[in-house]
Amino acid sequence: MNIISHNLSIAPNRIFCIGKNYDEHIKELGGKQIPDEPVVFMKPICNIVAPGTTLSYPPFGNELHHEVEVVLLIGKEGKNIPESQALSYISDITLGLDLTLRDVQKKLKEAGLPWERSKSFDQSAPLGIFKKHQDIDLMKLPFSCSVNGSLRQQGNTEKMLFPIPNLIKILSDWWTLKSGDIIFTGTPAGVGPLHPGDRIEVESPLIGSFSWNLKSK
Ligand code: ZN
Repeated sequence: MNIISHNLSIAPNRIFCIGKNYDEHIKELGGKQIPDEPVVFMKPICNIVAPGTTLSYPPFGNELHHEVEVVLLIGKEGKNIPESQALSYISDITLGLDLTLRDVQKKLKEAGLPWERSKSFDQSAPLGIFKKHQDIDLMKLPFSCSVNGSLRQQGNTEKMLFPIPNLIKILSDWWTLKSGDIIFTGTPAGVGPLHPGDRIEVESPLIGSFSWNLKSK
């Protein structure tokens, strides 16, 4: 990974990913009830891909899905962080793609197995350039994902089941959050398959836009 191309002021530490954080996305995947707590999983740092990089279609699995997500960078260490102080632990914000092999994930879920093969393959974490969030309302942030210019996902952080301060509280109760931790905060409805040759663009008027091309066959 080229850290400089991400303009990261802090060396990345871990990537936490949140699942089941938007009601309509849970429904589109066939989930029936609102969870009591978010799903948490991780991706390795080496899966990060800078904007503009050409992605290879994973050799395993047949259904590669885009999941646009708001992504946070933690700037200081904290444990048991109260919601009222949570935003002060965020250093920067951007958008990213939690790329997912949906067919593989479905099989793993059914077998009760861990999700790594479906979520943590090479290049599974395309990540935009981080920026400071001081002038951005993280509780009401619109963002979207387009494929080949057509809109696929449209989200707003105000629709999160577990809003950002709540996520930071939950994660910091379980783990000591460290400077350089990265948090993918979950995807809204509209996930769908990608094909070789596709151009994927994530965008927010308050953050910017970042794109990746999937290599043609
Ligand atoms: Zn996701």
